[in-house]
Amino acid sequence: MSDHAICMYDKCSRPSQVIIETGKMQIWLCREHFSQLAYRMARAAENRGSVSLRDLRVVEAGDGKIRIFIRRQAKKK
Ligand SMILES: [Zn+2]
Repeated sequence: MSDHAICMYDKCSRPSQVIIETGKMQIWLCREHFSQLAYRMARAAENRGSVSLRDLRVVEAGDGKIRIFIRRQAKKK
């Protein structure tokens, strides 16, 4: 039914197993890229107290592929 049976992460061709709704779009990821993202979000949350899906920056990498970055909020003590 969907074009997104494959993980959307750049250069990945594993089947997608997790869908993240950012509000703007759906991001389809395989387990590995999802874990990676979850880990990065957890790290960001530790560093600054909180992190939300709005802090994700999705960059198109062509071919329907994406890369995901976490926005830095430069609020340091
Ligand atoms: Zn992947």
